[in-house]
Amino acid sequence: MTDDLNDFIALRPASGHRPLQGLTVLVVEDSRFACEAMRLLCLRSGARIRRADCLRSARRHLATYRPAVIVVDLGLPDGSGLDLIADLARAVPRVPVILGTSGSSELRDEALAAGADDFLEKPIESLAAFQDVVLRALPAEARPFGLRAVHDETIRPDPLALQDDLKEAAGILAAPGDASRIAYAAQFLSGVALSAHDDALEDAARAVARNRDAAPEVTRLAGMVHDRLAAGTRF
Ligand code: CA
Repeated sequence: MTDDLNDFIALRPASGHRPLQGLTVLVVEDSRFACEAMRLLCLRSGARIRRADCLRSARRHLATYRPAVIVVDLGLPDGSGLDLIADLARAVPRVPVILGTSGSSELRDEALAAGADDFLEKPIESLAAFQDVVLRALPAEARPFGLRAVHDETIRPDPLALQDDLKEAAGILAAPGDASRIAYAAQFLSGVALSAHDDALEDAARAVARNRDAAPEVTRLAGMVHDRLAAGTRF
């Protein structure tokens, strides 16, 4: 057990240290690295994870089953996660726990206004914080029984998933000038960089997001992505 400040009181099932045992979590996330973090958090919590990498795929999943928890990234390749959250919040029966997630903390209010129960700010690395948000949002009748202090743990996603994200972004940045795709790649990379604690890449991605028509900034960002791919798993 770590010190008391890192502990939290969680409602837990009789089965031990896995307070989300038996729950299905649908993660709607285009970043493999962020998805890998969610996979580890779900695994450590006892939850089953299903993944969708865009709105269209998420809607396909939701047509066949209803998860207990859905975590919706707000920036997706085929639109805004806010639209999916708004639809889900109105649906009957409702997905019991609807969470928005983004690396941009200023989007918290928009996610809540769209109908999300809560918001997970990236990077999501604390097991205790993740479990706390999900357990607080679960309806009382769906919560596991019992109270127990659970120690915190910081998860570290596989750097190979980061390389996958960088390759994906490099492909988009190398394609000739579709401004909306460049804008998507810039916001995608700013989130990935935040999760990877890569401040220089985050700054470069944000510069492109602010001005996606600025060729020098796009070239600079593409160069930084290539450098990181060439350096391999340096994170
Ligand atoms: Ca995203």
